[in-house]
Amino acid sequence: MTGVKLENAVKRYGNVQVIHGVSLEIADGEFCVFVGPSGCGKSTLLRMIAGLEEVSGGNISIGGRDVTNADPSERGVAMVFQTYALYPHMTVEENMGFGLKMTGHPKDEIKRKVAQAAEILQLGPYLQRKPKALSGGQRQRVAIGRAITRGPEVFLFDEPLSNLDAELRVDMRVEISKLHKELGATMIYVTHDQVEAMTLADKIVVLRDGVIEQVGAPMTLYQDPDNAFVAGFIGSPSMNFLEGTVSGQGKVSVAALGSREIETQVSLPAVGATVLVGLRPQDIGIRHEASPVTVDIRERLGGVSYDYLKTPTGERIIAEIKGDDAIEEGTEVVVEFDPARAYFFDTETRMRLR
Ligand code: ADP
Repeated sequence: MTGVKLENAVKRYGNVQVIHGVSLEIADGEFCVFVGPSGCGKSTLLRMIAGLEEVSGGNISIGGRDVTNADPSERGVAMVFQTYALYPHMTVEENMGFGLKMTGHPKDEIKRKVAQAAEILQLGPYLQRKPKALSGGQRQRVAIGRAITRGPEVFLFDEPLSNLDAELRVDMRVEISKLHKELGATMIYVTHDQVEAMTLADKIVVLRDGVIEQVGAPMTLYQDPDNAFVAGFIGSPSMNFLEGTVSGQGKVSVAALGSREIETQVSLPAVGATVLVGLRPQDIGIRHEASPVTVDIRERLGGVSYDYLKTPTGERIIAEIKGDDAIEEGTEVVVEFDPARAYFFDTETRMRLR
C-alpha cells in the first residue's frame, strides 16, 4: 500500500493552462476526494496521476517512486470510470479477469482473484452474464471488480456514480466506503457532488479553476472553511452570504436583517468597510414577530423544511427548520442565530476573517 505525492503539478493544453501548480500529499490507505465545480480540473488531475495525461510541469510520485513519466501500467494504479467501459461481448467473469489475462497470469490464479472480487462485490450470481443483462449498479460493480482483481496499490475513481439514479448512488456510496475499509488501499475519488465528498473522504481537496482552494477533513472544511468559495461549496443547502458593514469595534450591521448588529471576535476591517457575512441554513432559526423579513417559500421535506426568506435588501436567506412549526408563507419572521456561528469574509479577496 502506498501514498501519492504531487509536487507543483502543471497541465497545459497547447497554451491554455488548466492545472496551476498543484502540490498535495495523500497518505497510504487514505480516501482522498477531489471535489469542485465542473471544469475545475479534477479529472485532469486524476488522469495525470493515472498516467493518462502527460504532465506539463512538476512531479508525481507513488509509493515514493517518481512516476511523472512512467507508463500507466507501471504505476500500480487501477482506474474506475463513470462510463464503466466494460466489454459487451464478454461475461462478467471474463471482464473482471481480462486485465490479468492480458498480463499473462495463469488461469487458476485469475479464477481465484475474480471469485474473491465477486464475493466482496456480491457479484457471484452474475459471473456468467453479459453486461447488457445487468443493471447500472451491477455494471459499475463489475468495473470496480475489474480494478480489484488487478490488486492495485492505488484506486482511482472518476465520477463512478454519476450515471446511477439517486437511490442507487446512495447504496453504491456505502459500498465503496465499505470496500475502502475492507481493502485498506489508497483511493482517490473525483466528484462534483459535495455530499459524496463529505461522506466518503478522509481528506477532501476542493479545487477551483485548476487551483487548490483548501485541503482538509470533511468536518474541518464544513466548520472551518478558509474562504467563501469553500464555505459555499461544502454544505447543503449552501451557506447564505449577506453584505455587512463594520459598524463599530467588533460589530457588523447586516442590512438584510433590518440593520441588526452582530458582535464578533474576528479581526474586522475599519468602521464603514463592508464584509461578507456567512450563515449556514442549519444554524438559523425563525420566530414569528413583526420584522422586515418574511417567509417567501417553505419547502417541506418531512423531517425538515427549507424556508426561503425574503429580506429588505433582496438578498435571499435559506433556513433549515426542523419539525413543523406551522409558520406559513408570507409570515414576518425574526431570524435567530448564535453570533458565534456567523462567518466573516473579506469582500474583495473572499478570504475568511478570523
Ligand atoms: P472537471 O473534471 O473538474 O470537470 P476537467 O479536468 O475535465 O474538469 O477539465 C479541466 C479544464 O481543462 C476544463 O476547462 C476543460 O475544458 C479543459 N480540458 C480538458 N481536456 C482538455 C483537452 N483535451 N484539450 C483542451 N482542454 C481540455
